[in-house]
Amino acid sequence: MSEVDNSGWESVIGLEIHVQLATESKIFSNAPTAFGRPQNTQASLVDIGLPGVLPVLNKKTIEMAIKFGCAIDADISSRAIFARKNYFYPDLPKGYQISQLDDPIVGSGKIEIEINDQKKLIGITRAHLEEDAGKSLHDKYDNFSAIDLNRAGTPLLEIVSEPDLRSAKESVAYLKKVHSLITFLEISDGDMSQGSMRCDANVSIRKFGESKYGNRTEIKNINSFKFVEKAINHEIQRQIDVVEDGGRIEQETRLYNSSKNETRPMRSKEHANDYRYFPEPDLIPLNISKEQILEIRNNLPELPEEKKLRFVNEYKISEYESKNLNSSKELSIFFENIAKEVSYPKNAAKWVLGDLTAMLNRYNTEIKNSKISYRDMINLLNKIDDESLSGPGAKKVIELLWESDKSVDEIIISEGLDQVQDEGDIEKLIDTIIEENPKQYEQFNNGKDKLFGFFVGQVMKASKGSANPKKVNEVLKKKLSQ
Ligand code: ADP
Ligand code: MG
Repeated sequence: MSEVDNSGWESVIGLEIHVQLATESKIFSNAPTAFGRPQNTQASLVDIGLPGVLPVLNKKTIEMAIKFGCAIDADISSRAIFARKNYFYPDLPKGYQISQLDDPIVGSGKIEIEINDQKKLIGITRAHLEEDAGKSLHDKYDNFSAIDLNRAGTPLLEIVSEPDLRSAKESVAYLKKVHSLITFLEISDGDMSQGSMRCDANVSIRKFGESKYGNRTEIKNINSFKFVEKAINHEIQRQIDVVEDGGRIEQETRLYNSSKNETRPMRSKEHANDYRYFPEPDLIPLNISKEQILEIRNNLPELPEEKKLRFVNEYKISEYESKNLNSSKELSIFFENIAKEVSYPKNAAKWVLGDLTAMLNRYNTEIKNSKISYRDMINLLNKIDDESLSGPGAKKVIELLWESDKSVDEIIISEGLDQVQDEGDIEKLIDTIIEENPKQYEQFNNGKDKLFGFFVGQVMKASKGSANPKKVNEVLKKKLSQ
């Protein structure tokens, strides 16, 4: 999608990303966090806010937040203090959300993004822990809304960026970077379709050269990379239109409608004092020691940047290929499983990013749901390598692996894709072709070299494309010079 034509206008964007942490149980109760369970079966007394119960902090969430902080070189608070954020919404049975205000667990840090080969640092203001709310269901009944509280109390890490992003494209690059970080750190599954990562985009415009920021709007809860780009571009253009028509941008919260590709107002923006924050009296501050932070820092897994460089050195693939292969941890593992086993890892990169990715895109899914395993890819690449399978043949196998339940070898047999290798078989084919084309054979022998191509073509045709072209050339050269 192209950038909007904001001639004369500069867009300014800051993202608030909510990441669902991959804990077994909720942040303040022992209820499970699993997705897709029958409604209202996973909310404990604590999550639904019955009087007399007390929250107990899940320490895993602290470790995960610290992991993220270490990965972006951020300041980490020595104390975890929680605060009550009061608001009244049906999906929040307690009437307040336990969050953090002052002293968030992760303070300021930086994340590097890359766009058109240009690197840029995006400031991270903070990342804090909080609990998720339940979910209102508006289309279950005609005249009522229903509520599913399974999600209430699910741990979230809210990552707030500085208003350092200058386009929808930069915002998507940043979001993708955060996605790869949280999945490499294994603190979240990052599954946007299930709401494990969602983002609010704050958007404003100003004239180029202006140092003050304009009034911003906040687009709530966008849940795919594609919609983030569309929603931001749409909002930038809407603001430009309003201001150029002599209007003013009011600070407000808007909702993005992906089927209409438009944003509409939801409510005027609350301010921090509307929430009447105060320190959560039911949780004591938690001290975080330097040793604990150091321990986590020293045990960080390999991060996307390091792995990207290692792949370039170890497997001799391009930086561009490596960047794409490291866009998710699962994809990087899938590739490396293949690269370790084949003679030309560069080819593995080519096939994974080419035909395999094309299938994932066609079926709108991710590598973890791939119907083609890394073992299938090793099998295919080895066959391409020993020339028993052609490139077009391998493409066909990849398609059919997805569309049928057959194995690589079964498909090769049923589709007749096995390249005829045997010299004897190829010779027999050639003899038949020579017999059937005596005139051309004579002309060739009288010096009409151009007819060599004719014979190659005839042999390939007779083999229905299954003969190995290199072998056909070799054997034909021998035969015709006899
Ligand atoms: P809140 O949403 O609670 O009011 P902040 O004021 O800290 O919180 O801002 C939240 C987000 O809005 C941050 O990501 C910040 O970068 C972004 N932001 C702040 N001012 C602007 C602006 N003028 N234009 C675009 N984004 C902005
Ligand atoms: Mg906000």
